This record gives sequence, structure tokens and C-alpha cells, in this order.
Amino acid sequence: MAQLQRIAIAPFQFQETLIILTKEQQHYLVRVLRLRPGDRFIAMDGQGKWWLAQLETEQAQVLEALIVETELSVAITLMVALPKGNGFDEIVRYSTELGVTCIAPVLSDRTLLNPSPQKLERWRRIATEAAEQSERAFVPTILEPVAFSTAITASQATHCYICEGRGDYPHLNNLMKSDPPEIVIATGPEGGWTPAEIEQAIASGFQPVSLGRRILRAVTAPVVALTLISANYD
Ligand code: SAH
Repeated sequence: MAQLQRIAIAPFQFQETLIILTKEQQHYLVRVLRLRPGDRFIAMDGQGKWWLAQLETEQAQVLEALIVETELSVAITLMVALPKGNGFDEIVRYSTELGVTCIAPVLSDRTLLNPSPQKLERWRRIATEAAEQSERAFVPTILEPVAFSTAITASQATHCYICEGRGDYPHLNNLMKSDPPEIVIATGPEGGWTPAEIEQAIASGFQPVSLGRRILRAVTAPVVALTLISANYD
């Protein structure tokens, strides 16, 4: 199936054995992907299911359910302090490729901006495109930005880590031995976390971890963290 084009379809567009296509999707399938009626493609609902579908004109027929096994064996929530500029776009794209389950943007003491609601839409679109391209069964959830303190106290997972480049903390890779159902991992902004934030995170059950002896950029740190986790729980 790898050669077939994949497209994300919202669950409400599935009606029995039909998919009702939006104008945008018709345009994408016909004008961009150059499919013709009768051609097949893969419809993903972003919630774990894929179907083989056949294009008609304004709709498509569902032919059969497909099995996709591209998800990691652990659910990962990436808590990221929003970086400057468009850095978050890259974080969303790369972390989706690497298998993240949920992305929680947080406003930290050294975060400068409070993003507009359009940004959230944009990030969700990027996550959908990246999930299609990476053949993911799930499109990661992107939460609304909240204050760091709110995010860490709301976190229920048993394995919570906060990445800190300075200090003598254990390497994340050395902690990936047990088999947790869910991991939460937090990475900071360009200016780093404040000591108060690290303390607060520890008080909320987060273990500070190192990603190595070199200081990584705010965009690179989540990529490294997710790579290490995915290497252990592929
Ligand atoms: N300006 C800060 C660095 C910030 S890097 C300083 O000089 O200390 C942005 C974020 O990436 C950090 O808050 C941390 O979460 C993560 N990070 C970068 N390098 C890291 C490393 N070697 N180990 C663990 N976390 C790291």
C-alpha cells in the first residue's frame, strides 16, 4: 500500500461505506495528486484507522479496512515551552514524524510570546500533514497553550521527565529501562527553564534529565528526546 496516496479524512465524513469529500479534498485528490475516478487512495481518520478507498467524483467508496502498525509502544506527551519565531512549526513536524502522541505547548517564565488562535490551527494542519507523510495511524493531539505550572500539575503520567542541559542529571537514555504505558517529557525555551521552574517540576513528580553534554537548541532538544524514547519503545 506504500505507493498509494494517503489523505486525512475527518471521522464525520464517513457515512456507511462512503466518504463525503470536502471541496478542498476533491481539489487535492484530483488537481494536486492527479487521481481520476476509479483510482484508489488511503483514507486515514487520524484516530487509528486506515481504509482503502476508491475515488468517485464528490465522494469515495470505502473498499476495506487496512491494518497499520506504525505507532510506538508507548504514549508520549511532549510538553514544549514555545520557542521564538516559527520554531514550533518544526517541533510539531519532527515530533509527529518521530511518533509523539500529544503535544502540549506551554508558556514558561522565559517564553516571550502568547500565540494567536490561528497558530493552533496551523500546528494542527502541520501535524496532520506530517502524520500522513509518516504513515502514522494517529494524528497527534495538539493542546491549547497553557502556563507551565498548570501543565505540570495537571499531568497524570507516572513517568515524567524535564530536560535540563545544565546540572548533573541522569541521561534520559539510561532511564528508559522499565516499560511505562505513558511518558511525559518537557523541553524548555531558548533561554532555558528558570531554577524555580525546575524545582516546581520536581515537586510535581518530574525527574530532571540530561540529553548529553552539549547544549541543544530549543528546536533540537525535543527531536533528540523523542529519538531516544522511540529507539527504546519502537
Ligand atoms: N540558554 C539555555 C539553553 C536552553 S536550550 C542555557 O544556556 O542553559 C533549550 C532547552 O533544551 C532547555 O531548556 C532544555 O530543556 C533542552 N536542552 C538543551 N540541551 C540539553 C541537554 N544537553 N540536556 C537536556 N536538555 C537540554
